[in-house]
This record gives sequence, structure tokens and C-alpha cells, in this order.
Amino acid sequence: MEKQKATVLLVEDEEAIMTLLRYNLEKEGFKVHSAMDGEEALTQVKEYKPDIIVLDWMLPSMSGVDVCKSLRRNAETKNIPIIMLSARGEEDDRIQGLDSGADDYLTKPFSPSELVARIRAVFRRIRPAFTESSLSFEQVVMDLNTHRVTRGGNEIHLGPTEFRLLRYFMEHPGRVFSREQLLDAVWGQDIFVELRTVDVHIRRLRKALNYDDKQNDLVRTVRAAGYALEIVPAGQAQEEDSAV
Ligand code: CA
Repeated sequence: MEKQKATVLLVEDEEAIMTLLRYNLEKEGFKVHSAMDGEEALTQVKEYKPDIIVLDWMLPSMSGVDVCKSLRRNAETKNIPIIMLSARGEEDDRIQGLDSGADDYLTKPFSPSELVARIRAVFRRIRPAFTESSLSFEQVVMDLNTHRVTRGGNEIHLGPTEFRLLRYFMEHPGRVFSREQLLDAVWGQDIFVELRTVDVHIRRLRKALNYDDKQNDLVRTVRAAGYALEIVPAGQAQEEDSAV
């Protein structure tokens, strides 16, 4: 199975730098979205939920620092890692950049391979899902090489779609995904599948994971929003198929 591509949002108003970075990030296997200014960056973050943002400090109108602060204030975006780029090299700027909520700071000029290394380092620290060969959550362990899934040591048998669904959830524990977002992420944007199909596979996944009544349910149905990988105490009633 192909390793899931991490999505990078590049925010940079200089086209030459944008082109160079995009080329190199894509070559390294990242999926790249781009924005030329701060406002556009905020819109794109909402739309694409990137796994990491590479954010230039000097942007027209809204600065990178302001974009960073704005993202950190919002519950939905506050955990997205940000690497700030700057032409400034002063120690004060570096501190201000990190204070505004950036996870790392890179001074221009830098080589694309240095950026790639920093991105991987941030992922290793914050999002091990992209570098590790196994994922775990609440006694569920997914081995991404052998495709073996266990809960509390007991083997769990999943169909290929349930496996991809669980993998996506385990890469983003606690995050609520709408059925549309799950369709895009797990089935792919080009395939036409009815939203109801998601519910069917969620039900199968839930059944496979909760092989014992006493276990906590791990798939939360969030009314009017979607589904999330979260601990739902055993016995707590969950609505079925009501994610719409
Ligand atoms: Ca700039």
C-alpha cells in the first residue's frame, strides 16, 4: 500500500521561490497546495486542512506572524504545525516567530533540501504517523507494513476500506471528519461513492474494533458533523448513521 502523502500548504508571495519549493516538495512525495497571501492562506487551510504549513513572514497585507497567530487562536487549526520562513536573521525575529506559534523557523536563503529535512523533523516530533511504521491509539495497534491490526493484543480483521478508514482516523486522533472529508481521504476524490457508503463502513469498522461489549467504543458519531476517533465509554449510547 502506498504511504499516505502528507499535505503541505506553501504560503509565499515570491513566485520564483514558490515554484522552486513546490517542485522540490512534490519530488519528495508531498502533496502541495499554495497561497500567495495571508487571507488566501487562511481560506486554504479551511479547505484543505494541510498537515503542515510553510509560511513566509513577509507577505502583502497580512503578515506571516499574523496568519500564524490567527491559526493558533482557532481550535480547528491550532495544532497544525507551522514552519516560518524569513529573510530576517535576527535572533529577536526568530524568537518573535516562534512566540507567534510557529514550530520552527528557517532563514532565507535556505536550500530546498533543508526545508524538507525540517518538515520531516517536525513530523517526527508532532505527527509520527508520517514517519512511523505503526500507529497506536487506546490499545489498538496498526502495523502499516504487515497490515496487522490488534486491540489489546487480540487480532482484528478488517476489510481494505475499513483498514484505510482506521488508518486515517489514527493519523488524526480526536479530529472530527465529515463524511465528505472521509470520502475524499479514504476513497479518493475521483471516485463517485454515496455518502451513505461511509456509514456502512463506519459500522463495520466499529463492529470489528468493539468485538467485546465491555470495550469502549472508539468511533464517535458527532451529530451534524461526522465521525472522530475518540474514546466513547462503554454503555454510552451512540447514534447510528446520524452524521448528517
Ligand atoms: Ca515574501
